[in-house]
Amino acid sequence: MAGMSTHNAPAIVMLGPGSLATAQRIQQWYPQATIHGLEGRVEGADQSYRSFGETLRGLYQQDTPIIALCAAGIVIRSLASLLSEKGTEPPVLAVAEDGSAVVPLLGGLGGVNVMAREIADALGVAAAITTSGELRFGTCLLNPPQGYALADIEQGKRFVSDLLAGEAVRIEGDAPWLQQVQLPASDAARRTIHVGHQARPANRDELLIHPRSVVVGVAGGNLNGIRAALQQAGIAEPSVACVLADEQAMADSALHEAAQALGVALRFAARPGDVASMVAAALPGAELIEQAEVVIAVAPAPVDAAQVGRRRGRLAVIGLGPGAAELMVPAVKAELARAEDILGYETYVRMAGPFRDDQVMHCTDNREEMQRARHAFELAAQGRSVVVVSSGDPGVFAMAAAVLEALHESSDPTWHRVDLEILPGVSASLATAAQAGAPLGHDFCVMSLSDNLKPWSIIEKRLDLAAQADLVLAFYNPISKSRPHQLGVALEVVRRHREGNTPVVLGRDIGRPGQTLKVVTLAELLPEMVDMRTMVLVGSSTTCVFPRLSGGVWAYTPRWYPTAN
Ligand code: SAH
Repeated sequence: MAGMSTHNAPAIVMLGPGSLATAQRIQQWYPQATIHGLEGRVEGADQSYRSFGETLRGLYQQDTPIIALCAAGIVIRSLASLLSEKGTEPPVLAVAEDGSAVVPLLGGLGGVNVMAREIADALGVAAAITTSGELRFGTCLLNPPQGYALADIEQGKRFVSDLLAGEAVRIEGDAPWLQQVQLPASDAARRTIHVGHQARPANRDELLIHPRSVVVGVAGGNLNGIRAALQQAGIAEPSVACVLADEQAMADSALHEAAQALGVALRFAARPGDVASMVAAALPGAELIEQAEVVIAVAPAPVDAAQVGRRRGRLAVIGLGPGAAELMVPAVKAELARAEDILGYETYVRMAGPFRDDQVMHCTDNREEMQRARHAFELAAQGRSVVVVSSGDPGVFAMAAAVLEALHESSDPTWHRVDLEILPGVSASLATAAQAGAPLGHDFCVMSLSDNLKPWSIIEKRLDLAAQADLVLAFYNPISKSRPHQLGVALEVVRRHREGNTPVVLGRDIGRPGQTLKVVTLAELLPEMVDMRTMVLVGSSTTCVFPRLSGGVWAYTPRWYPTAN
């Protein structure tokens, strides 16, 4: 979908369980789309919702294309309250549950008719296109194909209604796609469709379409410089296909802001000499306009930005949360959808899936953290979009620190230029605490009891001091087969400072199938109740419990703490 517009991946929203087969057929066509189903009613959905109307309105407001598998009327009623607002509109379609009808409803300028045709093709039916201009001329003039941009939409709407009223038209400039359009053409026509990269004043008799055939070459970031250069060269901004910059400036934030302000992709190349030779090498055959710091290249036809230079690689270290899809933050989901390479411990990589055929999984053993981190940088430095997965939060006893350590140790400039981001997740201690109530409601201390990477003596010392300081204690990696006795020793240290009736929360496989939650007392706690998939939360002197009607207890630690006297 690159270039069409910056739309999010579509949401396929089912209302009844009878539409799953249709939803899945549409998802095959849009592999990045998510299927939403009513909670408890539909199996096989990627996401569940409680309120259909709220879900639809939320998606609409986030500019997400909506494919609703239900009656058109239901969709219209659900979105009605939002429709009077002006602004950009995502494509919205109603598709019959059984896939027998595809009705584009909203988002004509966002390409809804194109989507309707694609979906209809996938389902083997005809799309219910109702846009008169499109029916008459066989294309939507206001939604030119990839590689072309409309100068002014209001001007365009007037122009199309003039044509519908019977005006003839003349085409100036080169736009092969317009040859296929059944336009009322005449060499004597007053109305013209002008295709060109020059900046021109808006004219009532003219539909101005810019080919995206211009590449702006720069050494570094300078939006004002770029704009001034375009203006001086008489080139319309929408004609710009991409900005091509020196790869040494890959991490220059002014450069990224400039490309974003222009709404174009940012590409990179090595600059052996001056900017002009960099641009000439990346775009052979283009005409070069050299200005102070900016070199403008005009190609004879639209330029595919993906073919110019290369892009900046990205490395995201993400947290999946404890396991359940609902507890994964949306930014992480989006990152997984854009990933080309996924690295991590096999269990977590599988948990992050399923992945598309074009995505490469690199599963490694849990212990090879530094090696995995370096591998991730090698891939990202080649321009790939790489994700390193951890469970819970990546910064809590997981991959984020290893990735940063690998970067810190490296003197390779290509590693340091990678677009590195850490995306948080719900950590096991927080997910467990939420299910138990609020045991972490006051000051608490988080520790890993594993002595793989630190001496046991420091663990005992910290346990002793934290227990003495009356902090609630959250234990990660509490026990493992290779160190079965250490938890018992740790509990002895804690018991020196805590009463036997102190509540202890044990969360096992929280957010995963077969999860269990237990609240016991410190006196009752035995190492056998705990394994490596368990989170242990030991209360402080103020942590308390009380029965909950649904069974079991609520555990919480109040916000306040008793004063000394
Ligand atoms: N980065 C992870 C923690 C990795 S350490 C996070 O932020 O959650 C691994 C330890 O986390 C396990 O030994 C266990 O103690 C705990 N843990 C991870 N996932 C868990 C889950 N779903 N339920 C209970 N404990 C979990």
